[in-house]
Amino acid sequence: MISVVIPAFNEQENIPAAAERLGGILAPLSDYELIFVDDGSKDGTWELIKQLGETDEHIRGLHFSRNFGKEGAVFAGLKAADGDCVAVIDCDLQHPPELLEKMYAAWKNGAEVVEAVKASRGKEGIIYKLFAKTFYRMMKNSSAIDLDGASDYKLMDRKVVNALNEMPERLTFFRALSSWVGFRTERVEFDVAPRNAGKTKWSFRKLFRYAISSITSFTNVPMQIITWSGVLFFIFAVILAIQTLVNFCTGKAADGFSTVILLLLIIGSILMLGIGIMGYYLSKIYEEIKQRPRYIVSEESGRRQRREDNK
Ligand code: UDP
Ligand code: MG
Repeated sequence: MISVVIPAFNEQENIPAAAERLGGILAPLSDYELIFVDDGSKDGTWELIKQLGETDEHIRGLHFSRNFGKEGAVFAGLKAADGDCVAVIDCDLQHPPELLEKMYAAWKNGAEVVEAVKASRGKEGIIYKLFAKTFYRMMKNSSAIDLDGASDYKLMDRKVVNALNEMPERLTFFRALSSWVGFRTERVEFDVAPRNAGKTKWSFRKLFRYAISSITSFTNVPMQIITWSGVLFFIFAVILAIQTLVNFCTGKAADGFSTVILLLLIIGSILMLGIGIMGYYLSKIYEEIKQRPRYIVSEESGRRQRREDNK
């Protein structure tokens, strides 16, 4: 059986279309289940999922008690999935469902992770593109995980899903974790389609926080930068000290008041920045150590739920 995990946040216009298109593609391939994970939507998304689940036994739903973010939704879906392979796909049909046939075939041929990579990025603003590029370059240089063109559109073998389910960490980055676990990986290319309906659920703020959290999840390079800038400043200080001493000995004692102020400012700001970065990692440790759940499922619907109710 193939399971498809579909995170959905305020996607009422897209749910029926997604269910229909995915069903049409999967039915000839094998037995399947669609797991819609409603990430605390405020619109009719959850009612729709429940309704669809009543008439179509392939459709299951999980409902979060509030918006926990896409990462939580993906991982909740992976945990709930019963399939021999599990795919993750966006609800807005920007990930062409037709590609699943190819991904499924690759899995049948022995691939354990089938990644769909973006051949083209679709319509995006120039600032957004710039940020995305910088982010991916930083990730590549610092953690050796190449995410260029990566998306959350994946198909994974049960083994991989089990490995991901065992990850104890709370602050996850699915896109990178699924390549971090290793396994035989194959890539297929796709062009990002325009959104079926509605608008993007990621505000700039949300995305920026996601980027920072992902970088700090995968690399300690920002902390190393602090150390190196410390070394740089020490060298600078030594040179300056020698110059001052020479001036002192030759009787040309500096009256450089502005130099002192400038140096104080620079060193002060570097220190603050350093402490800020350390604080970020510290707060991350704090978040992880609290051991709070990544998401809270408040309701379930569909086949499995009915099976349990009948017991
Ligand atoms: N999504 C989610 N929780 C969120 C934000 C987004 O589950 O807090 C889902 C959303 O419903 C969609 C997928 O994540 O299925 C991708 O979101 P979106 O299409 O808004 O992002 P974009 O394609 O613009 O990057
Ligand atoms: Mg989208």
